[in-house]
Amino acid sequence: MKHPLDKFRFCPICGAPHFVVNNASSKRCESCGFVYYFNPRASVVAVIRDEKGRLLVARRAHEPAMGTFDLPGGFTECGETAEESLCREVLEETGISIHSARYLFSEPNIYPYSGIDIHTMDLFYEVRVDSSITFSSNDDVASLQWIAPEDINPDEFGLHSIRRGIIKLLQDSSYRKG
Ligand SMILES: [Zn+2]
Repeated sequence: MKHPLDKFRFCPICGAPHFVVNNASSKRCESCGFVYYFNPRASVVAVIRDEKGRLLVARRAHEPAMGTFDLPGGFTECGETAEESLCREVLEETGISIHSARYLFSEPNIYPYSGIDIHTMDLFYEVRVDSSITFSSNDDVASLQWIAPEDINPDEFGLHSIRRGIIKLLQDSSYRKG
């Protein structure tokens, strides 16, 4: 795998061109000694289900993977808890106000953005809502729809971590029962 700081050629502190690989996640400046670690960016994913076991699926409005299926969510901001990020992202993208969520599992991902590969750690949370809830797509989401577990095809999810998460969910027999 390409070093995550491959495109960072100069020391961001002193500007020296001797910014060399320190280990798999960091580079070190041979002039001033500065060490910079490229850490995975935390992001949150909402597995929103109704009492019938259906999943609320989004269609991506933007690249990467524009037009493919996705789950609501996004990057955490500095100073937020993951739960606060989840509430904010779900509200921004679906208009749904959520009050509780249960942590499920995590999946690493690589997200191409602005010419570099952003490594992420996607935290999946289950959110239960009533099927009568109203929602509207906004922000990074082109449209939203309910899908029954038997109609979910992981291949329709464009982002790797989301696809792997969907496969994990479908392998969980309790998930199919709703
Ligand atoms: Zn330096």
